[in-house]
This record gives sequence, C-alpha cells and structure tokens, in this order.
Amino acid sequence: MKNKEIKILLAAPRGFCAGVVRAIDIVEKAIEKYGSPIYVRHEIVHNKNVVDDLKKKGAIFVEELNEIKDKSRPVIFSAHGVPKSVPKSAEEKKIIYIDATCPLVTKVHRETERHYKNGYKVILIGHKNHPEVIGTMGQIPVESIQLIETIEDISKIKFKGPVAYVTQTTLSVDDTKDIIDLLKLKFPKIVGPIKDDICYATTNRQFAVKQIAPLCDMFFVIGSENSSNSKRLVEVAKKSGCKNSKLISFDSELPINEIVKCNKIGLSSGASAPEKLVQDFIIKIKKYSKVNIEELEVIKENITFKLPSSLN
Ligand code: SF4
Repeated sequence: MKNKEIKILLAAPRGFCAGVVRAIDIVEKAIEKYGSPIYVRHEIVHNKNVVDDLKKKGAIFVEELNEIKDKSRPVIFSAHGVPKSVPKSAEEKKIIYIDATCPLVTKVHRETERHYKNGYKVILIGHKNHPEVIGTMGQIPVESIQLIETIEDISKIKFKGPVAYVTQTTLSVDDTKDIIDLLKLKFPKIVGPIKDDICYATTNRQFAVKQIAPLCDMFFVIGSENSSNSKRLVEVAKKSGCKNSKLISFDSELPINEIVKCNKIGLSSGASAPEKLVQDFIIKIKKYSKVNIEELEVIKENITFKLPSSLN
C-alpha cells in the first residue's frame, strides 16, 4: 500500500567532481586513441560501477605495473595520484603512461615537494593506506614526511626544526581544522597551504550534507566502502544531527522497513558515484512508497579540468 508519502531531500552538489569526470574521460579517450586493451593502475576512481563499465570498454585494472602482461600497451595512473617511483618504473620498463591524477592532488604533491626543497619536514594529515596518501608520501624521501591521522597522533611527531603540513584532499573539513589548530599550537611557525588542500568538491558536498541532514529522519550517501569522501559524508550527516545515516554501496541492502517509516530522508552521493545510482535508489523507494523529491542546491559548481595534451 503506497498511502504514505516520503519526502526526499536531494543534496546538491553531489556525485561526480571535476577530477573524476576527467579521469574517466582520460580512460575513454585513451581507448579511442590507442585501442584496447588499456591498463589502469588501481581503480581509476573508487566506484565499482565505473570500473565495471570501463572494463567493458577495454580497460584492464591492475594494482602494480609488474602485473601488466603486455608492456607494449599504455597504462593510466588513477585519479588518486602515485608515488614518484611509479612513473619512474614505467619509464624503466618502457611502458607508455598517462597520468589521470586529479590536478588538485597534483597541487598537494607539488606543495609537499616545495616544502621539502625549502628545508621543511612535512606532516601529512590523512588516512593510512589510502592510495592518495601513499602517492603524496612518495613525493619526497620517507624520512622527511610523517603521516598523522588523529589529534592523538600529534604527540608522536618526531620532527625537530622547521615543519610544514599538507592534507589529503577528501578529509572531513571540521575534523581537519581541529587537527590543524592543535598543530599550530605545538608548532607556532608551521607552514601550511595558501589555499586548503581539502578540495572544493569535498568541501561543497560536506557543506550541502550539513545543511540537509538535520532536517531528515534518515540520510543516505551513495558511494563505495573504499571511497574516502563518501565515508566522510556519512560522518558529517551523523555529526550534523541525523544519527541514522548510512553509506549505500553497490552490494548494500536497502533498509526499506526503516525507510518507509520515515517522513523525510536525505540523499547525497560521493564524488566518484554516478548519478544513475542516485536515481536507481529513488526508483527502488518508489516501489514501496509515494515520494516527493526536493533538490536543495546550497552552492553552484562550474569547475572543469583539461585533459592531458597527449589526448587532445
Ligand atoms: S574529490 Fe577532489 S581531489 Fe578527488 S578527484 Fe575529485 S576534485 Fe579531485
């Protein structure tokens, strides 16, 4: 019985960011230019649907260059960025590579390198083992950079002398600010980025969720378990007052019994989640209830990034 109507508040901006659009375009254009197969080192962006779609078009995903069977085929580096050792190794192996690192991750790489060249030790705020963090740590010698994940980690910083900090691009804006404030107390002369390393897409998606989540009985973020920015959106929704907030990944079962009891639910998606998944989610709810959709656009986005010149 579809007597009840559920209001769905759709957060905007949500979903694909300019870095993800560019990375997917790079794989598609490379297949057009070089034919298939094209190798991609690591998931081009953290979304199974995107990866499966590109596999059908002729991409082969590997985690390391030594898994590439046919070294005459080009390889693309994912949007998360790679340590300097990876392009170097591709050159040694004579593999053509195309770098799909998001320009905003590259900005953090160049900052890290600049700090190191200017004599600073670098503190990286980020999540251990995330490919972006591995890529940023790999821009300078290992003894010159230290990862911290939490406020508690500040006491473990071993550096003496001038220090600088950089951050992962997809962190929680609020949690990172707390860590940076404390870093500045411990190291009053610490140097940081002129413009935040947390990117515009992460900031805007978190801001939209913050406005909408407090109005909702439940909040859903469409995204993958390994997508840092998607997981942060769920945390932001919970912290903003919607305790019942969940990540919906490709194999999640929809908690439909809980959803049909709600008057209002909120919906957003991570920067690597295609809009189709958001629309599929709405279609599923429509099977059980009437819905009234309202999109709340809290900020306009019009950022695009150019493709590498080799693909134009
Ligand atoms: S989330 Fe930000 S840093 Fe990551 S790809 Fe998108 S724009 Fe680039």
